[in-house]
Parts: sequence; C-alpha cells; structure tokens
Amino acid sequence: MGITSNLKNVREKIPKEVTLVAVSKTKPIEDIKEAYNEGVRDFGENKVQELVKKYDEIANDVRWHLIGHLQVNKVKYIVGKVFLIHSLDSIKLLKEIEKRYTNEGLKADVLIEINIGREENKTGILEEDLKFLLDECEKCSSVNVKGLMAVIPIGDETSNRFYFRKMKDIFDDLKHKNIKNIEMKYLSMGMTHDYEIAISEGANIVRVGEGIFGKRNYNKE
Ligand SMILES: *Cc1c(COP(=O)(O)O)cnc(C)c1O
Repeated sequence: MGITSNLKNVREKIPKEVTLVAVSKTKPIEDIKEAYNEGVRDFGENKVQELVKKYDEIANDVRWHLIGHLQVNKVKYIVGKVFLIHSLDSIKLLKEIEKRYTNEGLKADVLIEINIGREENKTGILEEDLKFLLDECEKCSSVNVKGLMAVIPIGDETSNRFYFRKMKDIFDDLKHKNIKNIEMKYLSMGMTHDYEIAISEGANIVRVGEGIFGKRNYNKE
C-alpha cells in the first residue's frame, strides 16, 4: 500500500472537523511531497533538527506541528516556523518560548502535553501540576495555550477510552474556566492504532504516522 491509498483510507475515517496531522518523522521529503500533492498541509515531526531541515525543502503553506519533546536549548531554532507546538511540558520551557517569541515579535501557539498515564518514561506534565503551569501561562504575552495533547499508555480499547476520557474531562473543565491566554480549542490525541477511538472520545487533532507513511525504520542511519 502506498501513501496515496493509505491517506484515502485514513481520511475516510476522519470527520471534516478533525485535523489530520501526518507524522512524517524519519521519512524522506519525497514522502512528504506525495502527501502534500494529495492535499495534506499539516505535518508532524518530533525532532527540531529534522523539522527545520524539512521546513526548507517544501512549500511554505505547510503547517508544521512539533509533536515531540522540545528541549529548552532548541526553542530558538523553531521560532516562526511551526504552526503549533504540541509539547509544552515545563515552566522552564514556557519561559524560553516566551522569551524567544517576544524577541521576534511573534506569538507561539502551544498545547500542554499531559502525561495522563503517569508513565515514568514519558514526557508531559502530571495532571496535578497543570495549575502551576497555567498560572505561568497567564503571565505571558507571546504564548497562547490552544489546548491539550497526550500520548496515552499502550493498552486495549477499554484502556484507551479510559485515558482519552480523562483527557477530555480536563479539556472540558478548562474550557469553562476563563483564564488569560488559555483557550481550549484543540485536543490532540490518537495515533495510527487508536485514532478512531480518540475521535469518538473527543479528539479534534489526530497524529497519524505509520498509517499514512508505512513502518518507520530507525536503523537506517
Ligand atoms: C510518532 C508519533 C506519532 C505517530 O505515531 P504512529 O503510531 O506512527 O501513528 C504521534 N504522536 C507522537 C507524539 C509521536 O511521536
């Protein structure tokens, strides 16, 4: 199966109001161009260097999503290049984003990543730390929080639904609060193996990699 037919399959399962982010990490620019020619404009990368390199190699109407962990010292490379940062997960990172974007007179749209499964090997903040991060976001002038993101623990459908619902509850709760710089517009959750479940639980951004581009080979280089 090729990218074009994979895309057709995935798109048939996604309602129009849900944004499909095509996760192109590890894949060559030719693959991105094939998806682009099929009308895809939202692409996700998890590494800053890879995103920045690909940014230069394709038309500038692409909306780049940084979906992986963002190191504080790499913020400077992505200023003005990404549509949405999905992985705000610390006050230190927030402060760096605020500083770098303010310097350039730009606004950063970000999602807060929540480690909803409380997994030690995962990034994202714990639910109970959310309020401290939100307090700091309120003080910013160049950062707009546009929603939440999660990578849920591996599990069966029951488990998936459990974590997606937890995320939706937090999302809805914040939606009803009036906090400066915080708007609950996007709920980014669901990947190749669970995006349909995620959508049924309220996701409006799904991040699909292998389901579009095929298996990733990390041993290539
Ligand atoms: C790789 C990745 C995805 C896509 O995963 P697939 O299983 O290939 O769909 C989604 N979100 C994040 C944060 C990722 O790192």
